[in-house]
Amino acid sequence: MRAFCNLALATLLSSGLVFASPAATDTDTDRKVAALLAKMTLEEKAGQLTQYASPKEQLAREGRVGSFLNVVGADKVNALQKVAVEQSRLGVPLIFAYDVIHGYRTIFPIPLAEACSWDPDLAEQTAAVAAKEATAAGIRWTFAPMVDIARDSRWGRIAEGSGEDPFLGAAFARARVRGFQGASLKEPTSVVACAKHYAAYGAAEAGRDYNTVDISVKTLREVYLPPFKAAVDAGVGTLMSAFNDLNGTPASANRFTLTEVLRNEWGFRGFVVSDWRAIAELMVHGIAATPAQAAERALHAGVDMDMEGSIYLQNLPQLVREGKIPESALDEAVRRILRIKFALGLFEHPYADPDREKSALLANEHRQLAREAARKSIVLLKNDQNLLPLSKAVNSVAVIGPLADSRSDLLGCWPGQGHAEDVVSMLEGLKGKIGPEKIHFAKGCNIQGNDDSGFADAVKLAQESDVAIVVLGESAGMSGEAASRVFLGLPGVQEDLLKAVHATGKPIILVLMNGRPLTIPWAAQHVPAILETWQLGVEAGNAIADTLFGDCNPGGKLTTSFPRSVGQVPIYYGHKNTGRPPSDTDKYTSRYLDSSHTPLFPFGFGLSYSQFEYRNLKLSADKMRCDGSIKVSADVTNVSLREGDEIVQLYIRGLVASTTRPVKELKGFQRISLRPGQTRTVEFTLAAQDLGCYDENLKYVVEPGPFKVWVAPNSVSGLEAGFELVDK
Ligand code: BGC
Repeated sequence: MRAFCNLALATLLSSGLVFASPAATDTDTDRKVAALLAKMTLEEKAGQLTQYASPKEQLAREGRVGSFLNVVGADKVNALQKVAVEQSRLGVPLIFAYDVIHGYRTIFPIPLAEACSWDPDLAEQTAAVAAKEATAAGIRWTFAPMVDIARDSRWGRIAEGSGEDPFLGAAFARARVRGFQGASLKEPTSVVACAKHYAAYGAAEAGRDYNTVDISVKTLREVYLPPFKAAVDAGVGTLMSAFNDLNGTPASANRFTLTEVLRNEWGFRGFVVSDWRAIAELMVHGIAATPAQAAERALHAGVDMDMEGSIYLQNLPQLVREGKIPESALDEAVRRILRIKFALGLFEHPYADPDREKSALLANEHRQLAREAARKSIVLLKNDQNLLPLSKAVNSVAVIGPLADSRSDLLGCWPGQGHAEDVVSMLEGLKGKIGPEKIHFAKGCNIQGNDDSGFADAVKLAQESDVAIVVLGESAGMSGEAASRVFLGLPGVQEDLLKAVHATGKPIILVLMNGRPLTIPWAAQHVPAILETWQLGVEAGNAIADTLFGDCNPGGKLTTSFPRSVGQVPIYYGHKNTGRPPSDTDKYTSRYLDSSHTPLFPFGFGLSYSQFEYRNLKLSADKMRCDGSIKVSADVTNVSLREGDEIVQLYIRGLVASTTRPVKELKGFQRISLRPGQTRTVEFTLAAQDLGCYDENLKYVVEPGPFKVWVAPNSVSGLEAGFELVDK
């Protein structure tokens, strides 16, 4: 048996800031909730546990619905709220929910893009603006943040989260919860957040949405749960139970995750909503024969609200009457929901202010923030011979490709109430930057399909211009929910278009717009400059033009590995070593016959117009006690003539432990700005309690042993040192 340091579990599991939960024990609220509960009939109780997606006045009047989703706009919300508050027997207010994922009307970069900023403060700000706009339209609950770890880019929902890493995912989870919920849920500009999709939805087999998830509990705890735990620590008010089967028990009937872990271990006091009809789907999964059984299983597991299903409403009262469910279980779910309604101040202020709706949406400062967020999210993947930035003195620019003049695609998946006409397209951004007369456009082809009749015009335009910017990628609908793909290259004939333009010999820049990592080995080899711009929202065109012409120096870095081919997925930097790590010279190692095992672009990678040098890696000690910490620092210098941002990353590796550990684990990061010639000493604190893992008995343990540590510009390079974790 290996020795390990005995640290209190609670300390080990919590990381980062702990916010007061909006549903934290508050005796006054608890008294009010109890008083209300005492007056409720079984039908009214089941009503509180029910959410519908379209306005149902009669149910609101009868107190047989607790929430609506997708009803937006102050007038519509207020009209329905009036029925609940003024015409129902007990006047319990409704809570209005909506998928405010990356903005309400002012649409920010998709979450995957925003994570590439490695700037959680930025994510907090965009979430706060989204909340401000959504609340103006009557929404007090958002189904965000999506905190699913995703390591398989076939899965379209990779666009909605922060990428492949639990540490980074946890940081963004905390930030977004803080942004949405504000300092207090009582503020009229706060929405209650919903960490989703609990749990491990992103581990869908073969990247096919809604597919089965079968992973070890160790992997569940080490990889998929940390962002949820971080959201809970940040005080998230609600969670959403996922669609997927998790190790044989669907997530929406999973008492282990929903009650044992979430409530008993983590102390969560908010409520859980099912994903869309996920309770009814328990019958399709084959773990319930009837709606009544589905209701029983979900409630018993810990699902409090039934989204867009009538299962709870139609079955819970009867189940209680038959003695199959104790009334106390129903009461507990109602209590959790009412606590959040009280925390939001809905009983005192149930209505939205229509005047605020007129002024808040798409306010100037919101657009400015959208531009900043877009600029910070862009990742420069390649820049041979410093082709970028382009000079504004250029005479003629050929802008080619089906996404160059698109607006709606730049909104990405879950565009909220964003309007295509609010979006600055890339073509508009470029024209605004250097003058419309210098910019010429040829579409070349569509995003999908095999029509290449536009190639000739595109090639001619490139030949007549100084430089060609080719804008390729995916439509908005090709990522997000129910948008899995098996082919991850550029869709349709886009790569052929790229090849045709490349053959002209003109300087060529590839601008990618996509919701997932793509396989682009040909482009990576042949095109001198590649800018990954994802789907950047309403200010996309301006932010991209700023970057191409040097008014913005790109500083984003990837938060998902880019595979060379689909055959490599799932691919992620934090993999295990195996007993036979890949070797180019030894056949009997963990490798492929027909491809490198490495990614095309690794996690944490991104270039800048500046160059940075890392020196002087220092550790405050070469031994760390199991209850102690050490400081790790390095000097980072901007050795270029341009001011720029660098994202400095801290990785560790536990070399010997009682169970296998990843070859690298991110444990810190800082985005810093450096003037030309400037050096900053970047310092991180590594605490022993953050270095543990789950042992064979699924206990979190911090085990003594040797560790490596890196301060690095990405997951595959950097300065390396070692230290020993010791018992005493
Ligand atoms: C999605 C959720 C979303 C819900 C409500 C479901 O289909 O999986 O992410 O919040 O719909 O729109």
